[in-house]
Amino acid sequence: MKAFLLLLALLPATAVAADATKNPQFTAGQKALQAALDRPQPKRKARNIILFIGDGMGINSVTAGRIFAGQARGLDGASYKLSFETLPYGGFSKTYSADKLVTDSANGISAIMTGVKTINAAIGVDDSVKSKDCQSALGARIDTLAEQAKRSGRAAGVVTTAGITDATPAGAYGHVPFRNWRADVDLPADAAKAGCVDLARQLVEAPDDVRMDVAFGGDLQDFVPTGTGPGKRADGRDLTKTWVSRPGARYVTDAAGLSALDTKGGPVLGIFADGDLPSPVDTELHRNVPTLSDMTAKAIDILAAKKSGYFLLVESASIDKWHHANNAYRALTDVDELSKAVRIAMDRTDPNDTLIIVTADHSHGLVISAGSSREEPITGLVRNHGVNLTDGNNQPRLTLSYATGPGGPKAGAVVPIPDEATATSPDFHQPALVYMASAQHAGEDVPVYSRGPDSDLLTGTFESSYIYQVMAHAFSLTGPKVAKPVAKHRRRHVHGR
Ligand SMILES: [Zn+2]
Repeated sequence: MKAFLLLLALLPATAVAADATKNPQFTAGQKALQAALDRPQPKRKARNIILFIGDGMGINSVTAGRIFAGQARGLDGASYKLSFETLPYGGFSKTYSADKLVTDSANGISAIMTGVKTINAAIGVDDSVKSKDCQSALGARIDTLAEQAKRSGRAAGVVTTAGITDATPAGAYGHVPFRNWRADVDLPADAAKAGCVDLARQLVEAPDDVRMDVAFGGDLQDFVPTGTGPGKRADGRDLTKTWVSRPGARYVTDAAGLSALDTKGGPVLGIFADGDLPSPVDTELHRNVPTLSDMTAKAIDILAAKKSGYFLLVESASIDKWHHANNAYRALTDVDELSKAVRIAMDRTDPNDTLIIVTADHSHGLVISAGSSREEPITGLVRNHGVNLTDGNNQPRLTLSYATGPGGPKAGAVVPIPDEATATSPDFHQPALVYMASAQHAGEDVPVYSRGPDSDLLTGTFESSYIYQVMAHAFSLTGPKVAKPVAKHRRRHVHGR
């Protein structure tokens, strides 16, 4: 006995296993497992669908965004959860277009809204379309899911922090071979002659059976004529007046107007900025401009009041806009803004009748490099408890950097190395490997988060165009209305055979 005790005393401490079952990470994992086991099978038919697009929000933006959002609240960023990370189902969407390895936002949303990938820069048309070719677009038009929802008697709306005529929101109502045909002055003369119409007119002049009940965003210049504020239209049309000329239709221009809107009543156009809506970081610019959450809440309340079921597209465009500028601080702020807007949708809807999907149209070339201890700001230098770690040249380095963009080295120039205060300031532009005036999108698959009817069908890895199929199934839609016989020219196969 004595010898045994002696042996015990001599055993190294590591031989006594830690009791993992008492570790808070372990018990949290057990709780998560039980919640998954107890989760009821989703229903099959949806009354409502809310589709959130974090423009440019790859999985890298989600990870960096959650760390940023957690740290902004004085919490541990790494273990923080964005609202949509609590949704029960997840999958991966392959985002390439009919002609490019890496998609733009036009094809990105078009594939999701029509079930067919098209060429980059085209919206609401199939892959037979030729870029900037009006004639080819007229024969390639496909009803969007929002239009099909309207034809089935439901309500529909679109919300964005970009212009309402920007590519992603146009995915709800627009049909163009080129995304920049936003106002009449953007169309070449031959396109206008051939019968193509700019996106602002498509939104405002849509027939009643497909017209959006709610459209919130920016880019007033596309809707009003030259000489009226920022107006750029040369055809003399004031489309805000065209909008309100129909019975009950309403038009609002600021946060107060939005807030005062009665949820009952006719279709609402809300244009809150010349250009994109400003970042909430810029409080002065943002005065009396609604947040994405404000717009989402009002859109849901208006659409839900229709009692018919609804489809709503909500885009956080600013994630992409700020990534293009390599401004990680504002891009990640907008991931947090998206998270808040999704939370509002989660709180205002019932998982038994509303399908919520949160995804991206494509990613951006943001990289999260190792080295920093958990408490260090995600936008700052790589530091271990306040001590800078260096690169191979013995210089400080950053946790976040980009593959391409304005933060890259111009010919002959060296990218300056910031101090910590500069790196963590809202106006800092992260360094990029390759200099470009605007960062390029990235092509890896993007995450898809969902809850509600049919959300279990959004698991695994699938084409971006498959998301349309799930939404159409949840709504029991019979498919797009075929306006004319399919164009005769040969159709390319988009997907592998
Ligand atoms: Zn972009």
